[in-house]
Amino acid sequence: MVKFLPLFALVFLLPTYNLTGQHLHDEKCGFTHILEQREKKLPGFLNAVEQTHQQALQQYAAFAARQFKNDTVYRIPVVVHVVYNPNNPTANLSDELVKEQIRVLNEDFNRTNSDTGNLRAIYQDRAGRLPIEFYLAEIDPNGNPTTGINRVTTTRQSFLVPPFDDLDLVKRSASGGVDAWDTRRYLNIWSCNLSFLGIDALLGFAYPPVGAAFWPEEFFLADPLQGVVINYKVFGPNNPAATGPLSPYTSGRTGTHEVGHFLGLRHIWGDGDCSEDDGLADTPDQNNNSTDCAIERNSCLPAETPDLYENYMDYSTDACQNMFTQQQVDLMLFNLLENRTGLAELRVLGTTDFAIEMYPIPAGDELTLVINTKSKGIGSVKIYNLIGQLVSETILEIDNLTTATISTTQLSAGPYFVQIDFGEFQERKKIMVARS
Ligand SMILES: [Zn+2]
Repeated sequence: MVKFLPLFALVFLLPTYNLTGQHLHDEKCGFTHILEQREKKLPGFLNAVEQTHQQALQQYAAFAARQFKNDTVYRIPVVVHVVYNPNNPTANLSDELVKEQIRVLNEDFNRTNSDTGNLRAIYQDRAGRLPIEFYLAEIDPNGNPTTGINRVTTTRQSFLVPPFDDLDLVKRSASGGVDAWDTRRYLNIWSCNLSFLGIDALLGFAYPPVGAAFWPEEFFLADPLQGVVINYKVFGPNNPAATGPLSPYTSGRTGTHEVGHFLGLRHIWGDGDCSEDDGLADTPDQNNNSTDCAIERNSCLPAETPDLYENYMDYSTDACQNMFTQQQVDLMLFNLLENRTGLAELRVLGTTDFAIEMYPIPAGDELTLVINTKSKGIGSVKIYNLIGQLVSETILEIDNLTTATISTTQLSAGPYFVQIDFGEFQERKKIMVARS
């Protein structure tokens, strides 16, 4: 889950890897490292990750077929924590660079990136598109307006500190970073300095989703480490700090790669040799990660297809990459809706008008919905808590402009999802319930 540059990573992480019995010959991403560290602190973590992954692999295809509609967009609010030392003002990323990173994420996940044509012809029909919209959060956890960019100063020079047994320092205010916003409601991205001895071996890292079914609820509910960390020098495209050894990583695709992990993808070579796999049939077996795309190779003979260096979950340079596969997309969609319940707002873009407004936000003892549609019929309004439990259901008769008031007195304060189903329409929005 950690994206490292080669060589340097090997130098400083080797002792740690020897301890865990891992081989680091070709690893530049400490996939195992960060999970092993987490397992030490929360025994059972690795098992929960694996069970979630296996469950997702078994169910994603049917799930994707059921959920995926061409006119559906999953919207994810993002908060970017820009953590910087005032002595290093270049780490205080510009608003524009942050917005550019969001643009790259949207283009890469939606496959509207300008370099899709670079994908070799044999792989063109494997490319997938995830209809997702990342956007900078507009409301903070307290219900106040925000830009979605949270600038925080620190006295730390770097957040990569020997003996590298805690890579999450930036995620805690107490250790010089900044606490996450509710990780069930926001994709948290931290930007910070990750250099060590002047070397930028670590580009970023992210934890995989852990399904509620396989994790004690109290841990799942309070998991403040979920999110993505990106080395500020490779944050966003055309980052002026991405020079020297970092110059191949100037397209913002460290972010794409790490959000892929966040949504449950593994490296396409399975973090092992040809006997290891990422669990997906449409990514070819690879003996190890790619580093470039100058030379085509087929590292697991007699595989019929060459190594897929165009994939965001490989370690080729940013310019080599341009695609997720369809099964990667399906798996991410499954994880988004099943194992990161509460993160996505759902918008169905239909040809028939169907608009919903809700007020007040936050809601007190009641919530009012105004539904504007050209159709009439019976619909339902369901309220879910953030671990996906149905806490309220109301049947509505909908006829053009319909106003309905729903009691929320039984709900404790906090965030919820309101889902409106009406014929072919479905819309899901987050609300807050406040208690005075
Ligand atoms: Zn990785």
